Amino acid sequence: MLNATDTLEIKITRSATPRLATTDFSNLAFGKTFSDHMFVCDYIEGEWTNFQILPYGELPFSPAISALHYGQAFFEGLKAYNHPNGKVGIFRPYKNAERSNRSAERLSMPTLPEEIFVQAIAQLVDLDREWIPSQPHHSLYIRPVMFATDAALGVQPSSTYKFVVLTGPTGPYFSKNLKVKIETTFSRASEGGFGFAKAAGNYAGSLLPAREAVKEGYDQLIWTDAKNHEFVEELGAANVMFVINGKLVTPSTRDTILKGITRDSVLTMARSWGVEVEERRISVAEVIACIADGSLTEAFGVGTAATIAHIAEIGHEGTVYTLPDVAGREISNRILKTLNEIRSGLAPDEFGWNYLI
Ligand SMILES: *Cc1c(COP(=O)(O)O)cnc(C)c1O
Repeated sequence: MLNATDTLEIKITRSATPRLATTDFSNLAFGKTFSDHMFVCDYIEGEWTNFQILPYGELPFSPAISALHYGQAFFEGLKAYNHPNGKVGIFRPYKNAERSNRSAERLSMPTLPEEIFVQAIAQLVDLDREWIPSQPHHSLYIRPVMFATDAALGVQPSSTYKFVVLTGPTGPYFSKNLKVKIETTFSRASEGGFGFAKAAGNYAGSLLPAREAVKEGYDQLIWTDAKNHEFVEELGAANVMFVINGKLVTPSTRDTILKGITRDSVLTMARSWGVEVEERRISVAEVIACIADGSLTEAFGVGTAATIAHIAEIGHEGTVYTLPDVAGREISNRILKTLNEIRSGLAPDEFGWNYLI
């Protein structure tokens, strides 16, 4: 067992052809630029082993691996920021370690000791720290992923796995305010399912509904409960929040909702400011009624990739409702500003969220 004071021993092979100097940092599309190195380890005979940092590149495996056939795969997402004092802050990595293990358990995959998860990331980020952009709203996106590697076609849990961490510099995810559609045909997650896990398959299932919405002129979907499409659950691959009568209101978590770390950070900050927070079921009917009577003043998505994505318009069964002007939204704009400042070391880290290296 690795303790927080022990160092994870990682075999490092440096890239012979670093790409940093030839990478254009002024034009970073999300998830398309990768840093020079990646972390890789294996789960074999009941334990995690072969901890390595390698040049970013292809991995060899059989076309029979069960991740490809039966979807035993999940990922995580977090970010690192350059601080003005020269340190690098990774935002709440233990929370991702914890959630990664919840995903693993639900998908019958092995858990990874939290210390290994965090140190693998910390050592990788440290090695590629020059890849962290310093422009406002930019960061290093960190993408851990675990997948099953048994080359066997029986439907059963694999006995071997790989855990890989990729990183890449990234700019703002959504460049504009969103026009979203409340989805009342398709579902993202059902009760008893695994919507709370960052399982790869959840995202495959969301692509067609999202594409249909784009065809209708929307940017994103608001998912509703699979049973009756009566309650709001998430916004695309982000959590969703509203300000109604001055209170910050968000769907309570359940097995159909991903427990976002940004969600938790936003609620913690808002409570510390004395903003009243409600975690409860929110019906579509309530959202529409509160837009109509003016009590709903803000609506936004929260997640690591987007941070805060303001919703400008909401469509429901063919009617499009316009929300109050984004510039005047006090709570979400304050959240965005403060969260950005904390993560990039420009405001005091009063909740102890930054893991510094
Ligand atoms: C990742 C994700 C979120 C946001 O989680 P964060 O930890 O804040 O990044 C919300 N919903 C879904 C479906 C997600 O995949």
